[in-house]
Amino acid sequence: MFESLSGKLDKAFKTLKGQGTITEINVATTAKEIRRALVDADVNYKVAKDVTDKIKDEALGRNVLVSVSPGQLFVKITNEELTRLMGGEKKDINIGGDPAVILISGLQGSGKTTFSGKLARMLKSQGRQVLLTACDIYRPAAIDQLKVLGEQIGVDVYAEPENKNAIEIANNALKHAKATGKKIVIVDTAGRLAVDEQMMQEIESLKNAVKPSETLFVVDSMTGQDAVNTAKTFNDRLDFDGVVLTKLDGDTRGGAALSIRSVVEKPIKFISTGEKMEAIDVFYPDRMANRILGMGDVVSLVEKAQEAFDEEESRKLNKKIRQNKFDFDDFLSQLEQIKKMGNVKDLLGMIPGMGKALKGIDIDDDSFKPIEAIIRSMTLNERANPEIIDGSRRKRIADGSGTSIQQVNNLMKQFSDMRKMMKAMNKMGGGKRAMANLA
Ligand code: GDP
Repeated sequence: MFESLSGKLDKAFKTLKGQGTITEINVATTAKEIRRALVDADVNYKVAKDVTDKIKDEALGRNVLVSVSPGQLFVKITNEELTRLMGGEKKDINIGGDPAVILISGLQGSGKTTFSGKLARMLKSQGRQVLLTACDIYRPAAIDQLKVLGEQIGVDVYAEPENKNAIEIANNALKHAKATGKKIVIVDTAGRLAVDEQMMQEIESLKNAVKPSETLFVVDSMTGQDAVNTAKTFNDRLDFDGVVLTKLDGDTRGGAALSIRSVVEKPIKFISTGEKMEAIDVFYPDRMANRILGMGDVVSLVEKAQEAFDEEESRKLNKKIRQNKFDFDDFLSQLEQIKKMGNVKDLLGMIPGMGKALKGIDIDDDSFKPIEAIIRSMTLNERANPEIIDGSRRKRIADGSGTSIQQVNNLMKQFSDMRKMMKAMNKMGGGKRAMANLA
């Protein structure tokens, strides 16, 4: 996410590195480079200019600060300006009403149906009763897609495959929600490949009929400046409440994310970073600015971990670690949990300084495959008692998992180092606390 923008901004700040003071000349040069980086990342030119003008003014106004280097000061100011540009504060969705209706709008393929499922899953995990409604009357496949997602996440889906009247379906869904005690109805609507008048009329009348407490506009961030134009058109007709940016996991330049807010003056409320149901984040402008500037986003990382990690499992794991019984089965289940948290590279990128280190390196869930294959090729006895894995067992495991003995040896070494570290921590007596923090 935002890899190339982060890299270019980093380069711009380097111009100032080693320079002791802020002068009008170095400020102007750095600001210009920042502007170029933003425009290259697809940020609307006017928006990029506004931002860098502000950064320039701020930097010149604050040159009295002697405690930080010009480079650090610039990063800080840029961070503040990016945060402001993306809306400043996090904005929640409105789920008032009985039931509350959340209308999902956007072009076909933008990720509406996927997002509807993700939002339903998120609200359900907060203990809310949710009903998904399929109002895409043109694409029967969309109804099936929503049903599959609903089943996967354990949320009911209301659909009337034969009915071609979206307003009728939505109204029936509301009745169904009332009758079954559902408090939130998420309405997935029909999209078109491009904006067209009929679609706009349909979604407008659907909105008037169901009176949503929240109308969200879903947009594919890979579509660059088009995303901003589509957002404008939808907003003129629907006056939506918030934006959902999807596909930020892709090779996107991400500039749309930075421009939409200031062009349509509506907050970004969620971002979607993958096809998995867990790949959804509430949008925090300050955290996003930190990520763009390579400063990491530890808060989001911890929140994701808390969500994915099962408390009971963590307690059991802590106990095993304390008794020095952490084995390969535990290792495997830890890998599973990490994968549940979403895109691995994005996760690692949330660690300060990691984003830069990972630039250009290809990491995905597949990176864990050899490790998983090796562990799965071990017998249960071997997994529980790694010390019995001798040379001939290693060869058998390598053959069985389609890896090399070298790979097996590496994993054995890493595992043994990890165990040693755990043992040392236990001895220090701080193990309990340290592990509780980790879990
Ligand atoms: P809709 O036509 O607006 O309902 O779009 P869909 O939800 O069917 O999504 C279109 C395609 O984009 C599907 O293949 C989804 O799996 C994929 N998709 C949706 N959101 C994301 C995302 O955040 N990242 C990635 N990589 N793919 C996504």
